[in-house]
Amino acid sequence: MDKICSICKKRQAIYYRAYSGEYICAKCLNNVMEKNVKKEINKTKSLSIDSKIVIPITYFSPSSSIALSNLIYRIEKRYKSRIAIVIPKDYNIEEIKNFLENKSDLFIAEINIKPPERLSLQECIRFERVWSMRAAKILGYEFVFLPVSRTDISLIVIDSLINGKANLLSESLEFIEYNGIKFLYPFSGIEGETLVSYEFLSGINVKPLCLTNIKSKNVFYSIAGNRPELDFGSERLLDKLGNFLDKLGKCKICAGFSDKEICDTCNKLNLKELDVKLSFAQ
Ligand SMILES: [Zn+2]
Ligand SMILES: [Zn+2]
Repeated sequence: MDKICSICKKRQAIYYRAYSGEYICAKCLNNVMEKNVKKEINKTKSLSIDSKIVIPITYFSPSSSIALSNLIYRIEKRYKSRIAIVIPKDYNIEEIKNFLENKSDLFIAEINIKPPERLSLQECIRFERVWSMRAAKILGYEFVFLPVSRTDISLIVIDSLINGKANLLSESLEFIEYNGIKFLYPFSGIEGETLVSYEFLSGINVKPLCLTNIKSKNVFYSIAGNRPELDFGSERLLDKLGNFLDKLGKCKICAGFSDKEICDTCNKLNLKELDVKLSFAQ
């Protein structure tokens, strides 16, 4: 790419961000990511200078979880926050460790139930919430950060509505509080394409243990000619659905919307029986 960065106007650009029409250099891309994550965290106003945060290395997107861990590590270094990165034992721990900048607050989780190799994104997020909620409880931590992007959120909104599964809209919410644990999506201001490029340019590449799909993905891309518009549209749509969403009941296992005490996903994956054991990673 023979372009100068549109932000600093000095360095050579390495990435074209279609979302904003900007050519961006490595340093500015990093700043864009940091600023955006910081903004999303501040939006909830619930994080204090000594918050305790769990970042699970997720089954659906380990690379994004690692990118998130590294960004949060850099941002929160200036505060007294405590961050625990929790890696499921099913991963190659050494491989994950190599990509992490924070090498001292690592835990290994032994989880007795694994997700199937393929699952819808919404169901996988429910699974991730259940095991990371257990891990946070064991550690006595109050926050869980999940690496869900703006594009994921738009896909979830559209897919849930098209398939008449309003209950799955809970997975599009940037903030859920349940059982004393607060779940946050710090990447909710970043479109999927930029997140993936950032991971690639940072050299982070770990194969996910659960491949997720969204049924209506093709519908999404056929109407999303101009994706930023659709992404912002989904945000407005969610705002409008606010009152309706408040009235939906919650599954007592995964905190997702459900008409029944235990949702279909938790029943299907038997998450009631999910158990987590934590140990320090040496
Ligand atoms: Zn630049
Ligand atoms: Zn559930």
